[in-house]
Amino acid sequence: QSAAPAEDTIFGKILRKEIPCKFIYEDDKCVAFHDINAQAPTHFLVIPRKPIVMLSKASEEDESLLGHLMLVGSKVAKDLGLENGYRVVIINGKDGAQSVYHLHLHFLGGRQMQWPPG
Ligand code: 5GP
Repeated sequence: QSAAPAEDTIFGKILRKEIPCKFIYEDDKCVAFHDINAQAPTHFLVIPRKPIVMLSKASEEDESLLGHLMLVGSKVAKDLGLENGYRVVIINGKDGAQSVYHLHLHFLGGRQMQWPPG
């Protein structure tokens, strides 16, 4: 997959605070923030500070980081009151319809989701 280095993505700029973005969670490994184009009443993203381009570019050394992203998302979802459930999505590469080439987990909730997705 050809993609610009993750440092050059909009999420890199958000992490470096070059563009404003209110974090709803942050620690030394990741941040979470609301998606600018929400597809559900609650739609936030969890992204690693490490510029992993996409899931398929992650390696063994990222194993605990990947788990951390999911657990942070679960905690934030709970804090945001998504007690009825939510959808977690990782979009990977062109056929996945990835638009920002810096790994991110989508958490969507606050409405009934459908399956399969389009
Ligand atoms: P994907 O790469 O998973 O297809 O989509 C990236 C997601 O990032 C989209 O849902 C898009 O709305 C979101 N996004 C893109 N740019 C920004 C931004 O500058 N701020 C925020 N908060 N979200 C963004």
